[in-house]
Amino acid sequence: MTDWSTLKTDKLYVDGRWQDSRGGTLHGVINPATEEEICQVVQSSAEDVDLAVAAAKSAFRQWRTTSAAERAAYLNAIADGMEARKADLIQAVSQTLGCPAHITEWLHIDGPIYAVRYYAQRTGVMEQTEKAGHSIVMREPVGVCGFITPWNYPLHQFVGKVAPALAAGCTMVAKPSEMTPLQDYIMAEIIDAAGLPAGVFNLVPGPGTVVGAALSAHPDIDMVSFTGSTRAGVEVARAAAPTVKRVCQELGGKSPLIITPDADLEAAVRWGCEDVFINSGQTCTALTRMLVPAQRYEEAVGIAKQVAEEITLGTGPDAFMGPLSSARQRQIVVDYIQQGVSEGARLVTGGAERPEGLEQGFYVKPTVFADVSNDMAIAREEIFGPVTCLIPYRDMDEAVAIANDTEYGLSSGVWAGDVESALPVVKRIEAGLCFVNGGEFNYDAPFGGYKRSGNGREFGEAGLDEFVELKSVQLPA
Ligand code: NAD
Repeated sequence: MTDWSTLKTDKLYVDGRWQDSRGGTLHGVINPATEEEICQVVQSSAEDVDLAVAAAKSAFRQWRTTSAAERAAYLNAIADGMEARKADLIQAVSQTLGCPAHITEWLHIDGPIYAVRYYAQRTGVMEQTEKAGHSIVMREPVGVCGFITPWNYPLHQFVGKVAPALAAGCTMVAKPSEMTPLQDYIMAEIIDAAGLPAGVFNLVPGPGTVVGAALSAHPDIDMVSFTGSTRAGVEVARAAAPTVKRVCQELGGKSPLIITPDADLEAAVRWGCEDVFINSGQTCTALTRMLVPAQRYEEAVGIAKQVAEEITLGTGPDAFMGPLSSARQRQIVVDYIQQGVSEGARLVTGGAERPEGLEQGFYVKPTVFADVSNDMAIAREEIFGPVTCLIPYRDMDEAVAIANDTEYGLSSGVWAGDVESALPVVKRIEAGLCFVNGGEFNYDAPFGGYKRSGNGREFGEAGLDEFVELKSVQLPA
C-alpha cells in the first residue's frame, strides 16, 4: 500500500523539480468507496502555468534535437518504471475512481504500459522523410503541448497524450482532473527517475477553469489536447482560437450497439450490458443504447435484467462494479434515472435508490430501461453511469437510422451472426470506433470521434501524427 503522504501532492513538478505553487490552494481528493479524504492536492494558479510553459518552451529547443533512439530509450525507461510501480498505479486509480483493484489492473494500467512501449518503437517515424516531386517532406514536433484530462480513465488519457508527444519530440504541461490526480504524481516520479531533461514534462494540477483555461489560451502553447465533456471541449477550443494553436478534442458519446436478428442474443446482450456496467458506466465509449430486433425484444430485456442483477457491487476481489466517482456524479446519474421513469421508459431493474447493504460510497444500482424511444433524454444525453437503454427496431434501415440519430459519434458496436455479415452494418454507422461481436479495445488502432465526439485521434500511428508538423522542402529541380 502506498502511503500517499510520500507523494509531494502539495507541489507541482516544473522544470525537473518539485516546486511550491505561487498562490495556489489545496483540494481534498476523496475515495468514492469510503467517502473519506485520501490526501490534499495542490490547485495551481495561472502564474504556475506561466512558469511551467516557460520551462517547457525552453526545454523544447534541446529536446526537439534528440535522436529517435534517445527518445525511445526514455520511453522504455518510463514503461519499465510503470511496471516497477504497477501496484502504486493500480492503487492510485482504484482509490480515487472507485474501480475494484483487480479490474483496474487490466482495464486501466496494462494498456497504458503497452502504449508507452508502442510509442518507444515509433520514434523513428520522426526521422523518415518522403519525396513529393522535387520536394522532400520532413516531420517535426509541433512544439509545446498542454494536456487536460478527465477522471474516468486517468492513466489511459495521460499516456494517450504524453507518450506520443515524447516520441515526437514535444515538451508538455499536463493537468489531471481534480478528482484523480494521484497516478499523474506517480508518473511524474517515474519520469523524473527516468532522467528526462528538466522542463520536457511538467505537472500542474488544478481546476479546469483556472489551469485548463490558462493552458488553452496560452500564447506559448502550440497544441492543446483535451479529453473530457463536450461542454468543456468547446470552451477549450474557444479559448485556443485566438492563438491558432492546434486543438485535439476527445469528447463524449452516446453510442449504439446494434444486435442483428441472427445474433447470439444471450452473448450479445450480456456483453453489451457488461460494457455499460464496467467502470460503473463511466466510459466514454460505453454502448448505452442497445438496439434489439423487435421480434426478440422481450427475450433481450429478460437477459439484460438477469445480467444487471448478477453484477456484484463493491471494491473487493469479487466485485465487478464500484461506486460512481463522486457524490456529484452519483446525483447526476440518479437524476437521469428519475427522468427516465418520468419520461415513460420501463424501469426493468435497478433504480435511483441506494443499493442494499452499501451504506457508504457513491453507489448506484446497475439499471436497465426498456421501451426507450430515441428522443428521450436518457437516449440522447450522456448519463455516465451504469444505465443501459434497450430500444426496439423493425428492420436494419431503422436500426441504422436510430444508431446515427445522435449528436455524438465516438463509438458503436454491431453483434451479428458472424463478422462478415456485421461489416456492411459497420460501414453505415457514423462513429470513429466500432466493436464487432465483442472485439476488444486495441491500443494499436486510432481512437477518436466523429461529429461532436471530437477532433483528432489518440493511440496508434494516427495518435503520433497529432504531434507532427510537416515541412515541405522545395529543392531546385
Ligand atoms: P470535464 O469536461 O468536466 O473535465 C475534463 C477536464 O477538463 C478536467 O481536467 C477539468 O478540470 C477540465 N476542464 C473543465 N472545464 C474546463 C475549461 N473551461 N477549460 C479547460 N479545462 C476544463 O469532464 P469529466 O467529467 O472529467 O469527464 C467525463 C467526460 O469526459 C465525459 O463526457 C466523457 O465522455 C469524456 N471522455 C471522453 C473520452 C474520449 O476519449 N473521447 C475519454 C474519456 C472521457
